[in-house]
Amino acid sequence: MMTVSLDLARGGVGAPATPETALPSLAGMGMEALKAHLASIGVEEKKLKMRAAQLWRWIYDAGVTDFDAITNVAKEVRAKLAATATLARPEVVERLVSKDGTRKWLIRSAPGIEFETVFIPDVAGSGALCVSSQVGCTLNCSFCHTGTQKLVRNLTAAEIVAQVMIARDDLGEWPSTQDPRQLTNIVFMGMGEPLYNLDNVAAAIDIICDPEGIAIGRRRITVSTSGVVPEIARLGRETGTMLAISLHATNDALRDVLVPLNKKYPLAELMAAIRNYPGLNNAKRVTFEYVMLKGINDSPAEARALVRLLAGVPAKVNLIPFNPWPGSGYECSDRRTIDAFADIVRNAGYASPVRTPRGRDILAACGQLRSESVKTRASVALAERLAAAEAKAESADAAPANAAPASAVGAD
Ligand code: SAH
Ligand code: SF4
Repeated sequence: MMTVSLDLARGGVGAPATPETALPSLAGMGMEALKAHLASIGVEEKKLKMRAAQLWRWIYDAGVTDFDAITNVAKEVRAKLAATATLARPEVVERLVSKDGTRKWLIRSAPGIEFETVFIPDVAGSGALCVSSQVGCTLNCSFCHTGTQKLVRNLTAAEIVAQVMIARDDLGEWPSTQDPRQLTNIVFMGMGEPLYNLDNVAAAIDIICDPEGIAIGRRRITVSTSGVVPEIARLGRETGTMLAISLHATNDALRDVLVPLNKKYPLAELMAAIRNYPGLNNAKRVTFEYVMLKGINDSPAEARALVRLLAGVPAKVNLIPFNPWPGSGYECSDRRTIDAFADIVRNAGYASPVRTPRGRDILAACGQLRSESVKTRASVALAERLAAAEAKAESADAAPANAAPASAVGAD
């Protein structure tokens, strides 16, 4: 495996928890919270707006991690800030770089609160950061590794923003306003279901897209949902971001199995909510994600059914080769099957790129994210299953009539 683990000892990244970090960090705070903090250290009411705007630029444009770096604020105010707050990011407990350049950070913001963020560089010099919105997920999609991890909790807006700041620290891309920059897009496609945490996701997006700060425009932010129908309109109204739908099946019977939330919000309701998403047009299309599962959802008939389902929706389709994980029980469709599926969708007028899996070697690809602790438990469980299967095979050698096929291993 080509995984490389790199040194974490850099300014701001992976800073060990020190007594000072018990102070609140301003990195990740919204404008109102920042003003409240300034008021609490005695900044006068009439100067609050100006001081908060200054600080905002230092935090989110310059990316400072030390109050001493702030040059245009009176020394005395700086001292008060340093005595009452920090600019620390949450701890980076693991940083991995794939042979294809994908980077993954495992971040810990509090005991037991661990989540992953992945940066996927693009050939054209741009790149997308895939952020998590929850620790774990309640939804149990049958092909998703995250779905096997119980929900621990929603991430706060500050924890979501911190993922972007940690990536910027690591990529060396402060100030935010530099051009060109690699981190150009954000996708909410990490761990968790963003529409079950919409208040915090929307608050984080307000911070991330502010032009005086991190400055990633709303059209460059995509929120992916497995289909939380009642929140789709609010997502559009409150964030104005791009919508992605994890579709994966074209009929309710199959989607009920792959995405169990479908039993609550079936396809007809989902498609109606999508059609009403604010601002949809040919320049602002919905992305439909469709994971290619061998023999499950990948036939030409299903490609045609997909085209019928999308009729009249400004849409593009991302075909995602299934990323395997131990014990999933699924396999990825063959390349030829995927290409045939893509052709049918493309010939009907929808862009249908086949996603190249990125960062598979560091378990950073779609659906592979989960916290380290759970990973360890899973590998122990897998080792136990393999040992049991081996023992079974050995006894089968003695009595061949009972032999279990090797393919049964890991399929439960
Ligand atoms: N919960 C949200 C966002 C996170 S998942 C959602 O489901 O949309 C991001 C994407 O990865 C989703 O489309 C999801 O269905 C897909 N995915 C999950 N597991 C996968 C796997 N093993 N291989 C390929 N894609 C997967
Ligand atoms: Fe949750 Fe999305 Fe995975 Fe489904 S695909 S279990 S909604 S993270």
